[in-house]
Amino acid sequence: MRIMAHVAMVMNLDKCIGCHTCSVTCKQTWTNRTGVEYAWFNNVETKPGVGYPRRYEDQRQWKGGWTLDKRGRLVLRSGGRVKRLLSLFSNPDLPGIEDYYEPVTYDYDNLVGAPAGDDIPVARPRSVLTGRPTAITWGANWEDGLGGAPEHAGGDPNLGGELAEKVRFEFEQTFLFHLPRLCEHCLNPACIAACPSGAMYKRVEDGIVLVDQDRCRGWRMCVTACPYKKVYVNHATGKAEKCTFCFPRIEAGQPTVCSETCVGRLRYLGLLLYDADRVGQAAATEDEKDLLDAQRDVLLDPSDPGVIAAARASGIPEDWLEAARRSPVYALIATYRIALPLHPEYRTLPMVWYVPPLSPVLDAVGAAGGDQDDPDHVFAAVARLRIPLEYLANLFTAGDTDLVAGVLMKLTALRSHMRERTLGEAGDEAGLEAVGLTAGEAEDLHRLLAVAKYEDRYVVPAAHKEDAAALTAMENRCPVETSGEPAAAGGRRVMLGLPTLRRHTPGGRA
Ligand code: SF4
Ligand code: SF4
Repeated sequence: MRIMAHVAMVMNLDKCIGCHTCSVTCKQTWTNRTGVEYAWFNNVETKPGVGYPRRYEDQRQWKGGWTLDKRGRLVLRSGGRVKRLLSLFSNPDLPGIEDYYEPVTYDYDNLVGAPAGDDIPVARPRSVLTGRPTAITWGANWEDGLGGAPEHAGGDPNLGGELAEKVRFEFEQTFLFHLPRLCEHCLNPACIAACPSGAMYKRVEDGIVLVDQDRCRGWRMCVTACPYKKVYVNHATGKAEKCTFCFPRIEAGQPTVCSETCVGRLRYLGLLLYDADRVGQAAATEDEKDLLDAQRDVLLDPSDPGVIAAARASGIPEDWLEAARRSPVYALIATYRIALPLHPEYRTLPMVWYVPPLSPVLDAVGAAGGDQDDPDHVFAAVARLRIPLEYLANLFTAGDTDLVAGVLMKLTALRSHMRERTLGEAGDEAGLEAVGLTAGEAEDLHRLLAVAKYEDRYVVPAAHKEDAAALTAMENRCPVETSGEPAAAGGRRVMLGLPTLRRHTPGGRA
């Protein structure tokens, strides 16, 4: 067992109001520069919808993430080294600017410099890329609030056949929810495995995935390999850029900017302890529907004395162990098991998890004339509704509707119990028992989901500067075993000025 610490995030989707504050504050902090106008390290999508870039979830087209070969070994869907070498100068599996959007500026000079005439001057949009006049036809949140759904939502890869038709033709009655997305800082990152220059790396101490700008040669294999399409190429520098998980803030014990500014207070940040030796095996789990459990099994109980002793022996500092025990993220993922990873079937073992929204089910109950506050109506709907259960399952459990239904039942029982308690009644302990919760656990979970204070939502221990030299000496240590040919991580140089940055190689074959 090799114990490592990882900073992770959970988002409670029922509380996201789609205000985009997180995206804007992230942009102002990290991508308010020439060359990355189209890059949204954090973006908020309306679901159902095709997402950003368009249809990024369709891995048959984009070849992102990992798959199993005929012998059950983990391999990149985008191909091995030979294929990457052959496609260095012509990679067809990359989204084009039309799949994102053409960044524009406006012809402001015309407003003040146009000659006097009968017409009122206007500021026409101009492409930032070509300087020529352009039409604005798409954007990072073009589908906000189901805008354009009759035309586009049927193209959502999570909607298959009948579901697509229903959403297309009955979009006014369909459900919607917001899905904030950022780099998943995966345990088994495909982007690192695909990088021919060894520019992408994962920090040993906290798992954050970064790009070494000095080493990046702009081959863009990371863009293809990332199934979440969360690596962007800066068109001014030609180098890859991605979400940094606000590592300077994390090192100072502060939450990421998107978390700090989240209006819905739906983001949670905390430490997870995991067994690096089990990552490759978990990612290679044969049945996609078992991947969720496999990933949960990689996580270690921070209160287990054996884990604590092993973590101490691995050099994880005492205050980090304390933070891991107080981690809201561990509670939501492993203790209460209500948080789920986005698209576990990509096999990257993502480390940003989601509490799935109950609101689509409540909307459906209301639309069918049922009582959204009656737990029996909601339970029946969770058991019966094909839409949106299948849709949520396609997002969070590799299509396993029972798993999603189990989480939604838990949320329903919790809601019903706490509603009764708030009204001064005894509460619905029988309902809680049916979903495996005690009254005490329900109180704790309710506190975490509904009223948790800042210091309960963000439990981020500061970095240990005094360990920087020791970490530098450990720079070749790899958190995850490779299962064959090592990833093309190249040298393991520590970035200048950031002495605590480390690399690792992922669990599969590069
Ligand atoms: S593969 Fe995972 S870690 Fe790498 S950029 Fe994509 S989401 Fe981030
Ligand atoms: S700031 Fe929070 S509530 Fe607003 S869109 Fe982002 S995640 Fe949702």
